[in-house]
Amino acid sequence: MEKRVVDEITKKELMNMVRCPYCEDSILAVSSKESFLDCRQCERRFTSKDGIIDFIEDKDLKEVKSVNIKYHDMEAEYYDNIHMHMQADSKLYQGLVERFDFGGKTVLDIGTGTGFVLDNFHKDARFIILDISANMLKRNLKKHNNVILGLRADSEQIPLMNSSVDMITLSSVLHHLPDPAKALDEIYRVLKPKGILFIFHEPAESPRGMIYRVVRKALRIFFPKYKKDVKREEKIKDYAGKIFGVEKDEASKKMEEYNRKTTAQESFDPKKLLPVEKYLIKETKYYYTSDTFFCRLMLFIFPKKSGDQFYIIAEKK
Ligand SMILES: [Zn+2]
Repeated sequence: MEKRVVDEITKKELMNMVRCPYCEDSILAVSSKESFLDCRQCERRFTSKDGIIDFIEDKDLKEVKSVNIKYHDMEAEYYDNIHMHMQADSKLYQGLVERFDFGGKTVLDIGTGTGFVLDNFHKDARFIILDISANMLKRNLKKHNNVILGLRADSEQIPLMNSSVDMITLSSVLHHLPDPAKALDEIYRVLKPKGILFIFHEPAESPRGMIYRVVRKALRIFFPKYKKDVKREEKIKDYAGKIFGVEKDEASKKMEEYNRKTTAQESFDPKKLLPVEKYLIKETKYYYTSDTFFCRLMLFIFPKKSGDQFYIIAEKK
């Protein structure tokens, strides 16, 4: 394996970026035992193991967060196989990435999962990855050698200092959060001025997005075979069987239930997401992840602003 970028950064440099998420502006000290970080203010102790610092206290978590941890821990091993549809996003990301210089930049990828953003971004960026699921972080670290730090943390309480990162990326994350506004406040806090924020793959609240979702639902109810790729659906059922260890139709129902429970927000109006006094919006785009006949029809009727998903690129003022 190639040398990890992290080897070139001193531990001290990294630790200067980290702060206790529970008591603001506190200083963390590396404990005499190397595998712990101690908060000097609230005296909480956090474990640091294999490049991941664990800031989550599993007790007293909101239900949607506990469910997200549970399901994503279970799903981690098969995530890349199940979410193949996100490959459609791949091209989109790569097209955008070419326009920005990531070389030597420190990028915080929030809700990183198995590292879909890292797979598609410049390999010479240094990534800090954040997720609430330990298994996702472990898989991600195994796959990528440009991760400088893993944070098992809550995006509504980011354990990093103010203005500490050059870029922040989120792919398919905000709709899982019970309080996205709080996460966005945290994002604003840790991003450097002139830093770039990418928000990818969020459900769009727009009349066209609504029409699309309603018609798609109706088509699935009245024409169950409408689903474009029946084989693909069967494969997902097989993975569901592996995750839950039960017969695949039952497992598939469980999976749908978890998908519902882990989704905290139905959709967003991208125009209302980032306040103009905080960000300069560089680009907002609606798009479809699927490429069905129906999507093409929608694109034909509404060539601009058509889509059930959106991305935003913004610069912190
Ligand atoms: Zn503390």
